[in-house]
Amino acid sequence: METNTLCNRHIGPDESDVKKMLEKIGVHSLDELINQVIPADIRLKEPIELPEPLTEYAYGKHMAELAAKNKLYATYIGMGWYNTITPAVIQRNVFENPVWYTSYTPYQAEISQGRLEALMNFQTAVCDLTGMPLANSSLLDEATAAAEAVTMMHGLRPRDQQKNNANVVLVDEKIFPQTLAVMQTRALPQGIELRVGQYTSFEFTPDVFACVIQYPNADGSVEDYRELTAQAHAANCKVAVAADILSLALLTPPGEWDADVVFGSTQRLGVPLFYGGPSAAYFATRDEYKRNVPGRIIGWSKDKYGKPCFRMALQTREQHIKREKATSNICTAQALLATMAGFYTVYHGEEGIKSIARKIHATTVFLDKALQALGYNQFNKAYFDTLRIALPQEVSTQHLQSVALSKEVNLRYFDNGDVGVSIDETTDVCALKTLISVFAIAANRTSESIQPVSEACVIPDTLQRKSSFLMHPVFRSYHTETEMMRYIKRLDRKDISLAHSMISLGSCTMKLNAASEMLPLSRPEFGGMHPLVPADQAQGYLEMIQNLGQYLQRITGFAGVSFQPNSGAAGEYTGLMVIRSFLTSIGQGHRDKVLIPASAHGTNPASAVQAGFNVVICACDEQGNVDMGDLRNKAEANRNELAALMITYPSTHGIFETSIREICELIHSCGAQVYMDGANMNAQVGLTNPGFIGADVCHLNLHKTFCIPHGGGGPGAGPICVAAHLVPFLPSHPHFADNSTANVLHEADDVHAGVNDLPLHTVAASPYGSAGILPVTYGYIRMMGAAGLTAATRDAILNANYLAACLRDTYGIVYRGATGFVGHEMILECRNIHQETGITENDMAKRLMDYGYHAPTLSFPVHGTLMIEPTESESLAELDNFVEVMLSIWQEIEEVKNGTASKEDNVLINAPHPEYEAVADNWEHSYVRQKAVYPTESVRNNKFWINVARVDNTLGDRKLLPTLYGVSQL
Ligand SMILES: *Cc1c(COP(=O)(O)O)cnc(C)c1O
Repeated sequence: METNTLCNRHIGPDESDVKKMLEKIGVHSLDELINQVIPADIRLKEPIELPEPLTEYAYGKHMAELAAKNKLYATYIGMGWYNTITPAVIQRNVFENPVWYTSYTPYQAEISQGRLEALMNFQTAVCDLTGMPLANSSLLDEATAAAEAVTMMHGLRPRDQQKNNANVVLVDEKIFPQTLAVMQTRALPQGIELRVGQYTSFEFTPDVFACVIQYPNADGSVEDYRELTAQAHAANCKVAVAADILSLALLTPPGEWDADVVFGSTQRLGVPLFYGGPSAAYFATRDEYKRNVPGRIIGWSKDKYGKPCFRMALQTREQHIKREKATSNICTAQALLATMAGFYTVYHGEEGIKSIARKIHATTVFLDKALQALGYNQFNKAYFDTLRIALPQEVSTQHLQSVALSKEVNLRYFDNGDVGVSIDETTDVCALKTLISVFAIAANRTSESIQPVSEACVIPDTLQRKSSFLMHPVFRSYHTETEMMRYIKRLDRKDISLAHSMISLGSCTMKLNAASEMLPLSRPEFGGMHPLVPADQAQGYLEMIQNLGQYLQRITGFAGVSFQPNSGAAGEYTGLMVIRSFLTSIGQGHRDKVLIPASAHGTNPASAVQAGFNVVICACDEQGNVDMGDLRNKAEANRNELAALMITYPSTHGIFETSIREICELIHSCGAQVYMDGANMNAQVGLTNPGFIGADVCHLNLHKTFCIPHGGGGPGAGPICVAAHLVPFLPSHPHFADNSTANVLHEADDVHAGVNDLPLHTVAASPYGSAGILPVTYGYIRMMGAAGLTAATRDAILNANYLAACLRDTYGIVYRGATGFVGHEMILECRNIHQETGITENDMAKRLMDYGYHAPTLSFPVHGTLMIEPTESESLAELDNFVEVMLSIWQEIEEVKNGTASKEDNVLINAPHPEYEAVADNWEHSYVRQKAVYPTESVRNNKFWINVARVDNTLGDRKLLPTLYGVSQL
């Protein structure tokens, strides 16, 4: 093998390391270990069929070729996606900075203060711009945010509406088609009815509980919804508003006219188009609904010495705790993109954002005038950035379109022949000139010379924003690049990421996100692509997506794939909706129960409920396996109502259950389908696969197994792969009449025949979900090749078993497979420690920070334990360092146990020890400073200085303070 293959760089241990590790584990060869771990009957006989691996260098050239097939036209399509300028200081120091993009979701607040502050900036900017008191720290996209808003308002119905089963939500017809489609798909299994019409004729009858409107609306018109809102409230109905965040710099924000929920996209705040995603949706609402808000909320708290700090608040409402009673299934969201949008508002501040919005508006006004002079009429009296234009009799849409294309201009074409134009931050005088010339040539007229853009405004006084926003010093201090660069650096110094040390999060697979995989994302040919351009302009993307779809089908052993779901949980929901449609198509639509093992991830039951199913929990036995007796009983008892089993494989306990085939057969014999949660695919790729095992559908967390970085909690990509019989039911998209565009199929093209009468689903705003990050996965597969991917899986299992061998005699491993080995992760026993010393797994997690490590997964899936997944990317040196640290912590626990250290004052319960405590003149602990902060020699060489002491978890929940201004009320 060449040295410059990704395989050699991606996998930690080399040949001689492997030998040492096998010895420690007590097996003769890696083959022997793999044979012991994975049951023989599910082992693949043939390697995956994939192209020969490319070197990193060759891959760079390949991506340049693909990029060249993407043609970037001046695009004025709008519809929820707008070109924007990512400030270079943000692109270089955040988007391309592994500290930001490889960090984990900030569950461990003490080593996450940087990204928590960045997300707090985002929430504050959203609150300020919308005029609402509370915002979360991102949702998947505008359309799913709309669906979440409907679900939340449904859950918040007053008692009389609940009693009458008021289930209608009124939706203005001038809402983006993709938003409507996603809401419709979600409403269906919830028993919610969407009544679509003109908002001016909404009737708030007793069966109505809410309405959804868009501001400015889908035509670009800015309507005054004050009267409507008053009317809705008089009828006890709530009002949700999809709002263009940038327009709110100039328009009266919905919060000031009493809206209940405001949501939308923050893409145009400096996040590239990426062919539709990823970008962060925002969701803002009233303070009183805080316990019903979907997604994560960052709040203030204090550390144990009273220092103000940030943390993720109200986590007890999330699916991890509430499972089937959770308000939403959101886990991975869009943290990195929210961080970028937040920094965009920090960098520009109020004046900057206003001037960007004013320039866009003035350009639109100028365009309006110029088009009028050319004989074009447009409909919107008040608008921000979008015109809907009627063509004069003598100009055909077709002609205009061909002129536009000849000038490399994309416009929006309405079904009735009207034309839409949306102006954005990048539209300069030169672009405007070309744009006007298109209309002039089409009308056979000459356009007048372009004047410099003025301060023109057509927003009526009553709809103009009068209030200030972004008043906090954070938004007023970093407007030079030097200041901004240092602010970003100041934050990133507070966070542990993969750039520091192994992040051994079980189930979350924090592996290498190779720079060679990430580099193409910075190419404008990928970043600058609007999702609704004609296909011939996006050939680079489409070719990549087509090929990647095929690779993923082969890796999973399935026949079709949809890239729409933007997270694993969204994939679960999508897969279950596919199952629902399939069952309906064969006359089994009454099946409404989903079996889920007790050990399942919280998103499983939450997604099942979202897809309209009732959850039946089945037990696990003492070895952590599905209790076959209980499964059989529950399957039998619910035989006629059973729709599916959701199962994670290898299990969340890290074990390859030997009865998996039997389980699949049992479920099929009941007429139900098997959904495989693919979060643990890192233990399967190349060795076995869900299709071969006997499942019908699975999702893949591309942000776990397939190298998309975690981003501090997103972006994610959760494509689903399905068996042939489910292919016809994969999601569709309203912008593509031909459903096949949203799917990749290698079956015959006629698979959709005969299902036209069934509702097809749309689960994301963008046709291919988070298309912009797919090059990462594509790169991983192209550079690793079949042998490399399989080697990665084998090594992931090797690394886990090595750690298990090193830690089994102290902590102990909770579950092992039939032959005594673990899979790709393991659960460390910590419950006895708690019993004997009072020290909890949480104390150990915090103590790890003093050693420079991020905690493993805490108390999932077994309470009182730590789950460790090293992944294949960690070297033997790093594994050994981690073992040394874990054994040192074991020693510290021993000291408490045998009385050498105090039960009330020891390094564990006081951890982490922040820098300010370590250097204080006063030191009152019963142990020395050195033991606190330099417990081993290796820590000295790579000390991560912590910024805050242990964070108070209850304080921040008692009083939720979700904006920067909140610190004064702490
Ligand atoms: C991560 C994970 C999920 C959820 O995936 P997201 O992308 O965070 O929505 C579901 N199941 C398991 C087992 C997981 O580890």
